[in-house]
Amino acid sequence: MKKVFFVPAKVKEKGLLEGLEKAITLSSPQIEKEEAVAIKTHFGEYGNTRYIRPTFSKKVVDMVKEKGGQPFLTDTTALYRGKRHSLFSALSAAASHGFTGETMGCPVLIADGIRSTGYEAIVKDPLRLSKIKVASLVFEADFLIVLSHFTFHPLVIPAASIKNVGMGCVTKESKLAMHAGSEVKFNERKCLFCKACVKICPSGALKAKDKKIEYDEDLCIGCGECIGECKEEALSVPWEKKGPRDVQAGILDGFKATLSTFGKNKALFINICLDITQHCDCFQKADIPVIPDIGLLISDDALACDKAGFDLAAASPEYPGSDWDKKKKGEERNISIALSEADSFFGLAKKAGIGDLDYELSVI
Ligand code: SF4
Ligand code: SF4
Repeated sequence: MKKVFFVPAKVKEKGLLEGLEKAITLSSPQIEKEEAVAIKTHFGEYGNTRYIRPTFSKKVVDMVKEKGGQPFLTDTTALYRGKRHSLFSALSAAASHGFTGETMGCPVLIADGIRSTGYEAIVKDPLRLSKIKVASLVFEADFLIVLSHFTFHPLVIPAASIKNVGMGCVTKESKLAMHAGSEVKFNERKCLFCKACVKICPSGALKAKDKKIEYDEDLCIGCGECIGECKEEALSVPWEKKGPRDVQAGILDGFKATLSTFGKNKALFINICLDITQHCDCFQKADIPVIPDIGLLISDDALACDKAGFDLAAASPEYPGSDWDKKKKGEERNISIALSEADSFFGLAKKAGIGDLDYELSVI
């Protein structure tokens, strides 16, 4: 049975930051002097206003420094077109949300760099993908702290520690493989022949010929670079190619691949269960939460940490006025529908062997 530290949102004498500090201390992360510590978070898509408050990230950074580690705060570029699709736009979105080297007191870095590069990791007993490219800076780090905003999500319920690692620590190529496969979708009618995609494509799969773009599926290596580059969205992810179960299996393979690059007891998971929205922080806006604030959860087991968050969420009332509060009397609660979807995801995660579903809550 795994221990999950719980700092309730309803504070007593001490506040959430003090609770977080105590929980991290009690978790005793094995950070050695001068080890590189990747703090993997999500800075929030530009326009989203319910991402993790920088003050929590800063507290984690300070604690790593106190232990003698060398922290850096990090995320990877997004596969789809948005403000986080390139290293430069991702850093500018992060800065606009308050995450800079100056405010955090440590480097703020994009782990997969300019061309979304990573190192290949072999997945032992994969559910779907046997090889995954783990973003370079995550791969090279000695210790991983996963600082996640606990929310709901259309494909993975809940979106928290497991998703933050499985999808969030890998390159665009592996993200595309999880979502769709190894090719993109080209819609010729949207193309304005700017040729930006031709310049960026590393494999020659996109060619300009007779004032038209030709896309060769056989040459495409599925790096995903052209998707963010095309302003017209003529190049996109073929989302329809894989169902939710396939995506979940890919994410769990991504989780295993990423954790395999760290030693035993070299990871800590923190779920910030505040502002719990229906959609994750990749969305360009954030509605009011669907359930009230729960608090903070800290564990060295990602599955236990996510399951504890979900169980607390399932026992919560709906947030008044939210989309989940609209059910008429007698109709099934949205959280009950989410519960059945989460059950199958947690079952798959258990089958993948990524952690423990049994946990003991230790309230701080
Ligand atoms: S980047 Fe988009 S609009 Fe420009 S040529 Fe390529 S597909 Fe067409
Ligand atoms: S996914 Fe990569 S290889 Fe395939 S067409 Fe786009 S840029 Fe080229």
